[in-house]
Amino acid sequence: MASRIASRSSQAVAGPTEHPTRMSHLCAILGEYLTQYQVKEVYRAYLFSAEAHGDQRRASGDYYIFHPVAVATILAEMRMDYKCVMAALLHDVIEDTGVIKEALALEFDQEIADMVDGVSKMTKIDFKNRAEAQAANMDKMFLAMTRDIRVILIKLADRMHNMRTLDSLRIDKARRIAKETLEIYGPIANRLGMNNICLELEDLGFRYHWPWRYRYLSKAVSKIYTDHVSFIDGVETAIRNCLSKKAIAAIILSRQKHLYGIYRKMREKHRSFTEVADVYGVRIVVDNIDICYLALGAIHSLYKPVPGRFKDYIALPKANGYQSLHTLVMGPNGVKVEIQIRTKAMHEVAESGIAAHWIYKTVQEPTDKGHTSWLQSLLDMKQGTRDSLEFLERVKVDLFPDEVYVFTPQGKIIVLPQGATPVDFAYAITHRYSHILI
Ligand code: MN
Repeated sequence: MASRIASRSSQAVAGPTEHPTRMSHLCAILGEYLTQYQVKEVYRAYLFSAEAHGDQRRASGDYYIFHPVAVATILAEMRMDYKCVMAALLHDVIEDTGVIKEALALEFDQEIADMVDGVSKMTKIDFKNRAEAQAANMDKMFLAMTRDIRVILIKLADRMHNMRTLDSLRIDKARRIAKETLEIYGPIANRLGMNNICLELEDLGFRYHWPWRYRYLSKAVSKIYTDHVSFIDGVETAIRNCLSKKAIAAIILSRQKHLYGIYRKMREKHRSFTEVADVYGVRIVVDNIDICYLALGAIHSLYKPVPGRFKDYIALPKANGYQSLHTLVMGPNGVKVEIQIRTKAMHEVAESGIAAHWIYKTVQEPTDKGHTSWLQSLLDMKQGTRDSLEFLERVKVDLFPDEVYVFTPQGKIIVLPQGATPVDFAYAITHRYSHILI
């Protein structure tokens, strides 16, 4: 994804001649899936935004308008609809220029004005830490989301571009933003199943929040991978041969290194780097569900599975809609290899999550039968509930399963750990948690 985005010039300040270049790059992507009329509408939003931001500059010295164009490009790569891309181009217009919401509704439409307004409101929320965010601000966020989930997608793309250009900020400011990304935006992307975005946000957050640890780990990981490149190649070739012997067509991908994931595992499970990073991963993408199980059988006949390490997320998808077969096998020389098997549609969902479901408007083929998307279950829940507060409560429970949300008689929300009793609740009202009452 990153490679398709025009990288910021590291030399002199980019001149205004770069506007058309970046915009034509965006339009080229849009041309792949939108109608001519829709692309024109997006361009109209760009002109409006460029005029509103005028001479404003970013901390890097770049023209401000490059930022909304980059955000819109991220969303276009996710194949979001044209109104969402328009709102992305306009996302800082209310916050940073004199334009009011009503003017946007007049110039474009209410839907776009509402999205821009939603993003601006979310930007104003100051997340100091996760607990506070959950207690005081998550609900605002989710109220905004339940009206239009695209607001959150724009906000995530906004954060993504800000993280990619964090170099130009003062170190302490960059560190604070990185922390917020790790605590708030990473988990939200994860909860929406947006794996690609989550991984990039977390690795960038890790890099700016713990620069020394990041550098150390990144060196160690690349050493491991260069040391063992022939081992991984050998395993991949063996798998490829084994599958083709059984006439199973498959794409074999080696797993992405996720530094923050390795770091988190080391920290939470108190394990050493070698214990955590020693597991090699291979991903097998096939055409349909039946072939997933055939491929699994083939793999298990090639390498012995480690007992108790097989998981069928196809029959039992994760809450965020993720589906795959996972198995740990004993590879050559007794080295363990982690194998993930999935269909193309599942792969799409695993990488882009909720955004993959958003495309249902433009894609003919639905995702695999029996697949439960989180978005769909959200919509189902909403249909089943008249009361928006009740809906909100269910969404929260779904997002943070280890916490319980309790309403006071006054309708305020209190966050308690799972397993909390009514006594904890009473105690919370009077003492300990009184500061996080909304
Ligand atoms: Mn922004």
